Amino acid sequence: MCDGCDENTGKDITSVLRRRSLLKGGLLGLVGAAVAAPVAAESVIPAADEVPAPSGEFVIENVGVVSVDDTVGLLQKGAIHVRDGKIVAIGETVEAPGATRIDGTGKIAMPGMADTHWHMWNSLFKNLITPDHGYSTLKNELGPHHTAEDYYVATRLALAEATDAGITTVLNYAHNVRSPEHADGEIRAMLESGLRGQYAYGGFDPTPLDQTLDHDDFRRIHQEFFSHAGRDGTGRMSLGLAGRAVPAPMDVDRRIDDYKMAFEMGLPIVVHSGQSPAFITSPAQMDEGGVLNERNIFVHGVLLTERDRELIIEKGASVSISFGSEFRNLRGGFVREQALLLLHGGGNLTLSCDATSLNPTSMFEQMRLAFALIAPEFEKPSEKLASITAAQCLEMGTRNGLRALGLAEEAGTLTPGKKADIVLLDANSLNMGPGSELLDRMIVHSAMRQNVDTVIVDGVLVKWRGKVVSMDVDQVRQDAIESLYNIRKRAGGDYAPTTTDVPAV
Ligand SMILES: [Zn+2]
Repeated sequence: MCDGCDENTGKDITSVLRRRSLLKGGLLGLVGAAVAAPVAAESVIPAADEVPAPSGEFVIENVGVVSVDDTVGLLQKGAIHVRDGKIVAIGETVEAPGATRIDGTGKIAMPGMADTHWHMWNSLFKNLITPDHGYSTLKNELGPHHTAEDYYVATRLALAEATDAGITTVLNYAHNVRSPEHADGEIRAMLESGLRGQYAYGGFDPTPLDQTLDHDDFRRIHQEFFSHAGRDGTGRMSLGLAGRAVPAPMDVDRRIDDYKMAFEMGLPIVVHSGQSPAFITSPAQMDEGGVLNERNIFVHGVLLTERDRELIIEKGASVSISFGSEFRNLRGGFVREQALLLLHGGGNLTLSCDATSLNPTSMFEQMRLAFALIAPEFEKPSEKLASITAAQCLEMGTRNGLRALGLAEEAGTLTPGKKADIVLLDANSLNMGPGSELLDRMIVHSAMRQNVDTVIVDGVLVKWRGKVVSMDVDQVRQDAIESLYNIRKRAGGDYAPTTTDVPAV
């Protein structure tokens, strides 16, 4: 038995303990130390309650692989070799002497998923919606009572949920930046999360119709947090600009002024577009303003015109559909037609939850809704438009999202040379089977968030055997409860809390 072996199991747990102690120091400490840690001399397959300390090199073996990469394809039982944050090799077996072994028996490995439109600031009021207090009412009436710290807490809650759900890339559509401090709170949570993604600055809600966004603050944020060609120092987080959610009578030129600023800085633009007649910044308007390119994402898109679709496809821009939200707006029929026309035209379709008060944090749910809505069994307007596969839905929830964010070369598929953003699903859960060799269909038709067993971003474990390990989830929940309690107290009236004590987790 070695010096660091557990007296009951005989396993070397020194690496496990090293990992745990680092967790207390936060993720950034963990990342640095993970790189510096010595390579394990022997293979270690950790038990469920032990968090392995990757030495910078590990192999997930005996695992089903759904790569979403056309060349790598699907392996019933394979191995994924990761070194220094990147996938080195994928095959039925891989040569990696000295690397930590992670047993993937009974698991499916898939790429980390991507959500391309998420208003994280309002994550605290997700359970407050009633017929009298809908999403917009809550947004307008509770938004002003959020402090900058509440924004940090809400964004961190969203990111903890993303981590738990295997969503490794997020676009935070920040459409109510109430002050520079509020922006900083959101960005701080994103940088601490260890996830990949984009902070899309969308200004104050409601910004007067004849005004632009706060260009000075946008430039400050760029300089302060994203000065590495629009990214932070780790390269995982980037900056973009988000269009405002304002009614159509707003001066289009003011909107274009905002977009031009970002465009000239080489930064991407995401806009609500074609959700309803009152919320339109069309691809045609952006093209006329000279700011339409492959880095634009158009959100919802249910009322796009034929010309809009042509421009999106021609320029290589993307569309983000939030199926649950489209149902809420009673435009499910429109979105089906739009999705089919875009897909068959070669457009890049991605998925999003929009807000956790509207949809749960689950790309499985969005992929399943995409399949259910786009490929109905009985209503086929034409053969050309009626077909969609589970594989296409899986692409929407993974690689298409990374392409939309300009990260197609970095992640979104399990491909040698790309960053190691990997999710392991428990294929033996009751809800998953029977499936045997139908691994990709099991993900789209049967998987749920609770099947997410392990999540890796940039080669670093952020969830291990069912538990988020990159942040203190109990603290995240407690802070969220306290923040919401205080927001409701400040708002008063119908919103006043019914208890005098802050509830505990
Ligand atoms: Zn939205």
